[in-house]
This record gives sequence, structure tokens and C-alpha cells, in this order.
Amino acid sequence: LPRVFSGIQPTAGSFHLGNYLGALRNWITMQQTHDTFYCVVDLHSITVAKDPAELRSNTRYAAAQLLALGVDPDRSTLFVQSHVPEHTRLSWVLECLMGYGEAARMTQFKDKSSRQEEEHVSVGLFTYPALMAADILLYGTDAVPVGEDQRQHLELSRNLAQRFNSRFGTTFTVPDAHIPTDTARIFDLQDPGSKMSKSIPSGVVELMEDPKRTAKKIRSAVTDNEREIHYDPENKPGISNLLVIHSAMSGRSVADLESAYEGSGYGDLKKDIGQLVVDFATPFQAAVQGYLDDPAELDKILRRGAEHARGVASETVRKAYDRVGFLPPA
Ligand code: ATP
Ligand code: MG
Repeated sequence: LPRVFSGIQPTAGSFHLGNYLGALRNWITMQQTHDTFYCVVDLHSITVAKDPAELRSNTRYAAAQLLALGVDPDRSTLFVQSHVPEHTRLSWVLECLMGYGEAARMTQFKDKSSRQEEEHVSVGLFTYPALMAADILLYGTDAVPVGEDQRQHLELSRNLAQRFNSRFGTTFTVPDAHIPTDTARIFDLQDPGSKMSKSIPSGVVELMEDPKRTAKKIRSAVTDNEREIHYDPENKPGISNLLVIHSAMSGRSVADLESAYEGSGYGDLKKDIGQLVVDFATPFQAAVQGYLDDPAELDKILRRGAEHARGVASETVRKAYDRVGFLPPA
């Protein structure tokens, strides 16, 4: 089976609708067709300062949410990034292959660093894409299910794999991005010009929040002063985002929804989306609680995942270190 790798940060506790529709939905379906490796990327999350106790509990919380969404530990290798030291061992090599200018062109770095004082921007935030490339390349990954915002990092991972291969001999599989066509970028409900993001919590629908709060957030989503419900991302970004969310959650096409809502108001559309999200979130939240109630079982799943991941990753690092010219330990 072709190999899949993807990761998600444990950052702010709850996953949001953008994470789900942009990436996690594909994590679940690809289990049918691929050999899947899924990782809670805690190393990535400390590129921005984190409270240790919160990081620890958010990591378990992230794993519980992945299991509740349908990541099946009998089908997928589910693990925590810091449990597999090969990630940092390979990332150093890739950092040494990555150009300074290349890293400086990453828009995620530019965005995230512009929101902080320069003294507070970590070097880790800058070298993040090399660690991400290591995550992917360690597993001989063919496809990486992510949202549109990760396309540039994926491209860099491909370049690093090719550069390593041409300099040292073919070692890495060059991975492809697997980005949805319809839900690649879910926008913030309060600011439909920006992507929904854990780092800017205004119009973010969190999968673990109180359903009443979700319904309220959707009701107050920013739209426009017209009355027609139709898809036009340029002129009607708010309504277009809502149509995409509705379509993804209901399985109905955007065209179908446009005709179904002809003559209806924005309020009707919002009320229905609120209901769709709540119908999804309610059983999901109960399942998450079930996993959190049994932390020993959760840790067992993660330990098993890390052991399997290490088996694959250590073989890749051994090969890569040898190619680079590191003297093998006696
Ligand atoms: P941050 O803004 O702090 O980076 P995030 O919300 O982007 O947080 P990540 O853990 O970085 O969360 O991303 C997890 C996955 O979710 C990635 O594959 C990313 O591409 C995808 N994703 C994140 N936000 C969106 C969005 N608004 N629409 C579609 N996909 C998204
Ligand atoms: Mg992100």
C-alpha cells in the first residue's frame, strides 16, 4: 500500500472545523487505501512558547480527538512526535540542506513572526519546515493529506528530498501533497479573508466547544449586505465560506444548496449549518470523553504507535546518516 504521513499540532486543545474539513477528514478515509502514519506534532508546537502542563494535556487531548474522529489504531500508526527521536535526528541534516533564503520565503514564517516582537520569534519557528520535511521523509511517504496552507511547506519537503537524493544518492521518496479541492481552505467566520486558525481565535468553530456556542458563532458569522445565497468567493466571501461548510457537512453540492436556498434568508442558512455542526460534534465529543476517561489505554495506543514508527524511522535515519558520511557507531 502507498504510504501516508500527516501531523497536527496539539496547540490549543480543540481541533477546529478547518482542521477537520481541510485535513483530518482525509486522514480517516485514506486509512482504507493507504498505510497511514499520523502524528501529534508536539515538537512543532513549541516553536511558539507553551506552558508545559498545558502541552502535556493537549497532547493527550489531541490523540483522543483523532481516535474519536475515526483514526483506527489497528489500521494506522498513531504516535507522538517527541516519542520518536529520529524526527530531530533527520531534521538537522535537512536544516543543513535548506537555504536561508528558501526558509525566509515561507509565508507561514512571515505571517507568524510578524505577529511577535523579533526577540520573541524563535529560530525553531524559522526552521520548522525542515522538521516537517523530516516528519514526512522518515516514513517513505507517498502522500500527505493537509490543507492548502501547507502547500508551500510540502513543496519545500519535495525539494529537500530531491536535493538530498541528487547529492547523496536516492534515499527518500518524493512526497505528493493531498489537498482537498473543495475544502482546502476554510475561512474565519468573523474575518472571511483569513483562514480559520488556532492561532487567531475569533471566528473559529472548535469541535470540542459547547454546541450552543457553535450555533451562536455561526449565527453571527460576517456576511454581506445583499440577500442572495450564492457562491462567489470574490464578492461574497462570508456566504461562500458558509456554503462550502454546509456542503462538506451535508454532502450536498454547492449548486444544489444555491437552488434549495433560493428565496431564503442568510439566517436560514446559518441555522441549518449550526444544526449540521452540532449533529456532528455531539457524538464526537462523547467519544473524546470516552478516550480521556481511560488514559492508560490511550497511552498504550500511543506507545504501540511510537514503537512501530521508530522501527521504520530508525532504518531511514541509519541509511541517511550513512549517505551523508557520518561514521557509523561501532
Ligand atoms: P496554526 O494556525 O497555529 O498553525 P492550524 O489551525 O493551522 O494552527 P495545524 O495543526 O497547523 O493547525 O494544522 C493541522 C492541519 O489542518 C494542516 O493540515 C492544515 O493544513 C489544516 N488546516 C488548518 N487550518 C485550516 C483551514 N482554515 N482550512 C483548511 N485546512 C486547514
Ligand atoms: Mg498551521
